[in-house]
Amino acid sequence: MTRLVLASGNPGKLAELRALLADAGVELVAQSDLGVDDAEETGLSFVENALLKARHAARATGLPALADDSGLCVDALGGAPGLYSARYAGGHGDSAANNAKLLRELEGLQPERRGAHFHAVIVLLRHPEDPQPLVAEGVWPGSILDAPRGEGGFGYDPLFLDPEHGHSAAEMEPALKNRISHRGRALAQLRQRLPDALAALR
Ligand code: IMP
Repeated sequence: MTRLVLASGNPGKLAELRALLADAGVELVAQSDLGVDDAEETGLSFVENALLKARHAARATGLPALADDSGLCVDALGGAPGLYSARYAGGHGDSAANNAKLLRELEGLQPERRGAHFHAVIVLLRHPEDPQPLVAEGVWPGSILDAPRGEGGFGYDPLFLDPEHGHSAAEMEPALKNRISHRGRALAQLRQRLPDALAALR
């Protein structure tokens, strides 16, 4: 069994990753349960922020560390809200305000100019100075609707249209979203590559 620290205190993320790694010989512990505070997210890209978070957790605990970062990138806004997805309208995690701001910014734009994608990065650092982090990434292409649709999901889900299925992310069954989403794709990659990355530690 390899103990890994998750650089997050989010119980949803912990449960999701624990389920995914259940048969990978991994015991996942949240950094908050080990008394580790949040790292400062001073990077300018998803991968930089994920690495900063993982390095902070690995340094504080002496354990290999997993961290993730994700957000929504809108083509017509030069990639915004991007790294600032959670606090686009100011307050952290105010989804209603974030979605209202996004609709305002794109007002009047025709569907073909409303392209966007979700991006997720998950990294594993085997130790704080690991020169070869495992970096798993997932992208979910779509577009931004001109009004919210659906009741499920979280964050920008009601405004994000998956063109392949013709549904917003908030209209999808969670199992479908988990399979095709940016995070689902990054997690599948992580799951596949983790055994090799951890073999060196055993
Ligand atoms: P974090 O990576 O958990 O910090 O997420 C960053 C922010 O990106 C969230 O607060 C949401 O605003 C947005 N986001 C990331 N993934 C999703 C998703 O699957 N649906 C909707 N919003 C998302």
